[in-house]
Amino acid sequence: MVPSRRIRSVEKSKTLAITDKAKALKRKGIDVVSLSAGEPDFDTPAHVKEAAIAAIEEGFTKYTASTGIPELRQAVADKLNREAGAEYSAENVLVTCGGKHAIFSSVLALCDPGDEVLIVSPHWVSYPEMAKLAGATPRFVQVREENGFHVEAADLEKAISPRTKLLIFNNPTNPTGAVYGRERLGELVSVLARTDAYVISDEIYGKIVYDDVAYVSLASFPEIRDRVLVVDGVSKAYAMTGWRIGFLVASKPVAEAVAKVVGHSTSNATSVSQKAALAALTGDQSCVTEMRQEFDRRRRYVCERLAAIPDVRCTLPEGAFYVFPDVSAYLGQQDGPADSFALCDRLLESEHVAVVPGGAFGMEGHIRISYASSMEQLERGLDRIEAGLAALRRA
Ligand code: GLU
Repeated sequence: MVPSRRIRSVEKSKTLAITDKAKALKRKGIDVVSLSAGEPDFDTPAHVKEAAIAAIEEGFTKYTASTGIPELRQAVADKLNREAGAEYSAENVLVTCGGKHAIFSSVLALCDPGDEVLIVSPHWVSYPEMAKLAGATPRFVQVREENGFHVEAADLEKAISPRTKLLIFNNPTNPTGAVYGRERLGELVSVLARTDAYVISDEIYGKIVYDDVAYVSLASFPEIRDRVLVVDGVSKAYAMTGWRIGFLVASKPVAEAVAKVVGHSTSNATSVSQKAALAALTGDQSCVTEMRQEFDRRRRYVCERLAAIPDVRCTLPEGAFYVFPDVSAYLGQQDGPADSFALCDRLLESEHVAVVPGGAFGMEGHIRISYASSMEQLERGLDRIEAGLAALRRA
């Protein structure tokens, strides 16, 4: 079997591959601690589940409009209007099968072969592969750790070329936890306003920010709003990963173009899940606050544990639920792992702890640890990471 050139050009999703490998080891009876996928361990809130059960019992089990049910589209528009001072209507919104589907459909709707997709890196593993699947060429603009993993406006300006059709930007950021406030965003917007590039702003972690850091949507800037595609969803904030509901908010011509992709690929997001997502967005929000407080406690714990390991450097994340420590001191030694991929293989095989190599996100020398797992799993996982690195020091 010879797969298409398109498929031959892409990598498997590393986050999913490692998580699957950890699950396979668990099925064999091995006690694996998985800190790989960004998946909240909490149960979906009860009122959300009840809305889904009611939808099933009422027979709400048929196709919906392919753009999503009107009341959910309106709820998404209302939410973003409140947050960004914008004036979106339901027609600007598409409901998709997860945030991933919103991004992929948007890349497909916007990009032609020969177009460049500029990606702020380190980046989520799927962005460059989505660009390649659309026949476009991924390019990267690298952030610097000493800058808190934030991209500089000057670096962005240098990286944009006449062929840049699209920028993919993620705020709060997976895997680094960096969050861009209004001032930093304003600097980037002043660069983007001088181009005609579209911007996908993946804001799926928007509700998960800590301390006095505030989430500001890129849709808050009217000067580029027509070219901004905001991606959000219920997976992360409401512990609803399996329900597969994401949203896209964009100008009407863009939303209509993306709707063609959605219409031909999935028809519509699951009817029952849409009702559940509506309950999540419009119901009591205290569940979001409670989960965020618990993520915050875990964030501090993981960073404290990492700080106590010799030669590991860790920037305290401002948002999302990942830490991205620098473990480069443990790489490239004789008989030791050559890079972050080899280190993660070794941690999984010898210590039975699953984490994701920084190289998969475009930054070698780091690993990504998800703290969306329970405190008990984190304690055990950190014990194993500590033991695995100690063994490398002794070797
Ligand atoms: N977005 C999550 C992560 O980065 C889930 C897995 C995936 O879709 O990549 O771990």
